[in-house]
Amino acid sequence: MSTKRNNPETIAIHGGDYKSDPATNAVAVPIYRTTSYQFNNTEHAANLFALKEFGNIYTRIMNPTNDVLEKRVAALEGGLSCVTVSSGQTASSFAILNVAQAGDNIVSSTDLYGGTVSLFTHTLSKLGIEIRYADPSDPKNFEKMVDDKTRAFYGETLPNPYLRVFPIKEVSDIGRKYNIPLIMDNTASPVICKPIEHGAAIVIHSLTKYIGGHGTAVAGSIVDSGNFDWTADPKRQPLFNEPDASYGGVIWGKAVPELTGANVPFAVRARVCLLRDLGSALAPDNAFAIIQGLETIALRMKQHCENAEKVVNFLKKHKEVTKVIYSTEHNKPIADRAKKYLKGGYGPMVGIELKGGIEAGKTFIESLKMFYHVANIGDVRSLAIHPASTTHSQLNEKELAASGVTQSYVRLCIGIEHVDDIIEDLNQALNKSSKGKLRAVS
Ligand code: PLP
Repeated sequence: MSTKRNNPETIAIHGGDYKSDPATNAVAVPIYRTTSYQFNNTEHAANLFALKEFGNIYTRIMNPTNDVLEKRVAALEGGLSCVTVSSGQTASSFAILNVAQAGDNIVSSTDLYGGTVSLFTHTLSKLGIEIRYADPSDPKNFEKMVDDKTRAFYGETLPNPYLRVFPIKEVSDIGRKYNIPLIMDNTASPVICKPIEHGAAIVIHSLTKYIGGHGTAVAGSIVDSGNFDWTADPKRQPLFNEPDASYGGVIWGKAVPELTGANVPFAVRARVCLLRDLGSALAPDNAFAIIQGLETIALRMKQHCENAEKVVNFLKKHKEVTKVIYSTEHNKPIADRAKKYLKGGYGPMVGIELKGGIEAGKTFIESLKMFYHVANIGDVRSLAIHPASTTHSQLNEKELAASGVTQSYVRLCIGIEHVDDIIEDLNQALNKSSKGKLRAVS
């Protein structure tokens, strides 16, 4: 089977079981635009619902187009199973809701995407799930916050705006002492980092970003590594060790390995309980768009990172730039983590602070000609934004400071255009930045 090959370039194209469509021999993955699937007979239907047999029931829970994407993303991350969902936000919500209930807590890195901070601090806390924040610059901060109700650790591999690489193995090792799984959001670093190799139990993605790559579809994924023992400490993981009344009293931690032969209760529970109850299913049309992007992810990440490094070298010498933020441009031991965890490139995102502060930042963004001024990351196009007035504007001063956003910070996502053109555009906009001369954004 092609997934046995471990090279991301090959996995992204051939991963999973799919060679051609079994019904038509079509080579491109078909969009299975159907909500439901004909059962062979009543016994077949009953077996599917009882999880005695695995197969398609209803597109809110599974779909053959999504299935190909799920197998490829699982293989790319070195995991055993994957569930796709309607967005990256759903992936992070489900990752927490699958392990924690009211009264429980999660210890999360302070270095997070702004939307994740809102989800954790506002929505999940209203549901009774407490998120405790730990500064990842010292992994021991995670241990200090553990108590009997801690159900998971959470971090982002390459979080912006700080762009400090997360100490994956260090935090995972602490978690495993207490039977606490590490959930990693690997949105900004597919291919260049495989968190499961460093001990992460679960890896989520906003597929909307680098994996999709073209800004055409919103989607998310949750990969179960298969490497975490959910039954080792039943009190630590009640959702996997106590009978689930919503599914005939099944004990997920035991039943899933018995039924499937694979230690993936996290993925199965996310699918058959959370997708069943909360919906947020990925539309197969969007899965198709993401599959097209996925096929070139290895090539694109290489180019994003190569271009970003050249841009960093250019910016460090520019007279209007007071600070360049990049994964390798930190003091030790933070900079060492980039070398330890990122392979084949140090990431596509670059932050800058400008001599002229916030006003220069605004003028700079409005002077860019080729870069797009947009909220997202992970597009083939080069992108720029001023987080303090946009993506992070709903955070208070304390949250802003914790996430590393200063008033003059500008985030750049370096695209895969020719690097000379990227640098030329940056240079002309930087040279205008101190003059405060605005032009309309086209
Ligand atoms: N995680 C990270 C790191 C992100 O950057 C984003 C979005 O920017 C998300 C999660 C949420 O993803 P989505 O926009 O697909 O809901």
